[in-house]
Amino acid sequence: MTAAVRIEMALHRAFIFLGPPGAGKGTQSRRFAERCGVPHLSTGDMLRDAVTRGTELGRLARPIMERGELVPDDVVMKMVEERLAGPDCAGGFVFDGFPRTLPQAERLGRVLEKNGFGKPVVVDFEVSPDVLMRRLTGRWTCSVGGEIYNVYDAPPKVPGICDHDGGKLVQRPDDRPEVVKERLVAYERQTKPLAAYYRRQGVLDVVDASAGVEQVSRALEEIVRRVEGRDGRL
Ligand code: ADP
Ligand code: ADP
Repeated sequence: MTAAVRIEMALHRAFIFLGPPGAGKGTQSRRFAERCGVPHLSTGDMLRDAVTRGTELGRLARPIMERGELVPDDVVMKMVEERLAGPDCAGGFVFDGFPRTLPQAERLGRVLEKNGFGKPVVVDFEVSPDVLMRRLTGRWTCSVGGEIYNVYDAPPKVPGICDHDGGKLVQRPDDRPEVVKERLVAYERQTKPLAAYYRRQGVLDVVDASAGVEQVSRALEEIVRRVEGRDGRL
């Protein structure tokens, strides 16, 4: 129902969805990007695509991702900067899973400025650890279009098959409990401090990401309305 609603967003804005693995950033940013008519830029998806294609980047990233660690900043920044040069990014975009370290955030700030973007709008997805485990261990993703499901909370109509394009659903190798543990450690050490960094800049919003998908979507819509209103564009 609400999937048909289009959010009118003023041009030229960068959104960043922050939060731990499994918080629902991918689910929300895919919807959000569609509704706002801007590209969804997931560094995780870009890296997994490179791994699948067996490119030089993929060969470098694969063992790091399998261990649940973060890919080096320089490698990620090069990939992001190349993507941002695409003409579809001129009107704004939503980052999912990026930036993940302070150096990435600082470098992104400079790139945004250079490209005439103002300060980003950053949304921190807050969620309790027990919810995260349920979300990560129950996650299945479409191998064709990337649609995200959950066997407990958002199952497909036919088990193992994507509702949208009939693609086969697969489990991510890094959603195994022992890798999840490492990813949560990386998040706590390297990514969580970004919330304080963006709060100091006055650009941080927080959503209760333990809520249902529709409720989180509505909270994000509210943020867009408020930000657009504040800047006098509505
Ligand atoms: P992230 O990109 O932050 O790692 P995902 O969007 O991939 O998170 O979501 C992780 C899992 O949780 C998926 O299985 C997804 O279907 C499920 N999920 C996402 N948002 C919600 C929600 N609000 N309520 C219940 N399950 C959710
Ligand atoms: P999730 O949201 O479930 O943590 P992602 O799909 O965002 O998963 O990321 C999967 C993996 O890809 C990470 O564990 C990490 O190895 C790598 N990765 C993704 N984005 C970045 C980034 N911005 N910096 C470094 N590594 C990244």
